[in-house]
Parts: sequence; structure tokens; C-alpha cells
Amino acid sequence: MSATVTAVVALGSNLDDPQAHVRRAFAEIAELPQTWVTARSPLYRTQPVGYADQPAFVNACARLETRLAPRALLEGLLAIERAHGRVRAIPNGPRTLDLDIVLYGESVIDEPGLAVPHPRAHERAFVLAPLLDVWPQAEIPGKGSAADLLRKIGSEGIVRIVVPAKAGTPMDSRLRGNDGT
Ligand code: AMP
Repeated sequence: MSATVTAVVALGSNLDDPQAHVRRAFAEIAELPQTWVTARSPLYRTQPVGYADQPAFVNACARLETRLAPRALLEGLLAIERAHGRVRAIPNGPRTLDLDIVLYGESVIDEPGLAVPHPRAHERAFVLAPLLDVWPQAEIPGKGSAADLLRKIGSEGIVRIVVPAKAGTPMDSRLRGNDGT
């Protein structure tokens, strides 16, 4: 049996109730075979990068333990994207759901159709901030610690989405989840 590997998946959406797409995707990732979601970041509202004329994104990260090989994990994520009606039209354009493998253990993979660490993760605050929420000590192989990288680029253009606590919820249970719910 293959070893369990810690991986991080970045989630993003900017169409048709993006928060709902991202929340559903967290649950669907947890249903992938031989995969366990061990942490979910809060959601962030972020400004589009590259193709600016589109709605703001909702971004987040999930930390997983998985026994799936990187390719099998990617196939599972692509199937979830398709189930959310993802259509690839404009590069960096609007999408119902984008799932990227940011980290797969300490592996460096450079194959057709699969690059890990994700090649742009280290320069994007909307990946680094939620990555740090789920893994404060995360290291991006070849690039350095996620904390140092985020300090360098700054967190401009991203805002943590605060979910209002329900009336009457005691403070300690409000603080319990790591996803703001
Ligand atoms: P995108 O339009 O950004 O969602 O690109 C999706 C394509 O990127 C997928 O079909 C994958 O084959 C490829 N890809 C390469 N590296 C990764 C990665 N680390 N995570 C997810 N997709 C990747």
C-alpha cells in the first residue's frame, strides 16, 4: 500500500455563488478515495489576476492526507471541476471552480499536464494566505517558506471573508472551526 502524503489543494471560484461552489468542493474533495481533508482555510475574496474584467474570486485551501498518486489526485480534482460545470474558455478567465494541487509532500513534479508545486503558487497571495492558514510551516520546494514568500509580496487585494456568528453562539464555539463557520 502506498504511503500517506500531505498535500494542499487551492480552490477558486468567481461565478454562480462562488462561496457555495468552494464550500461544496471542500466536501467533495473529502469524498475522494483514500483522501482525508485535515484542514480547511477560511474563504478569501480576491481581485482577479491577469484578466481583470471579471468578478472577484473566492479562494481557499484544503490540506489533505492522501494515498492517491499525484496523477490520480489530479484526475479526481478535474472530475470535481467538471461536475461544477467548469468550461475552459479564457485563460485566467471566469470559472465556476478551479482546483490546483499546490503541494504534494515535498515532491517536485514537472510532467506534461502536471506541475507541482503549482508554478505560480509562490507569487500569489490568494494561494499563500490560505495555505498558511492550513499549514503555517509550509515550505514550497525550490522557493522557500510560504510565510516569507507572502511577506515579500504582501497581501494586497485579498480579504478574509468573515462569516457572522449566529446570535447566541458562545464565543468559544465560534472560535472552534478553522473555516469561520
Ligand atoms: P487551469 O485552467 O489553470 O485550471 O489548468 C488546468 C490544467 O492545468 C489541468 O488540466 C492540468 O493538467 C494542468 N495542471 C498542471 N499542473 C497542475 C496542478 N499542480 N494542479 C492542477 N492542474 C494542473
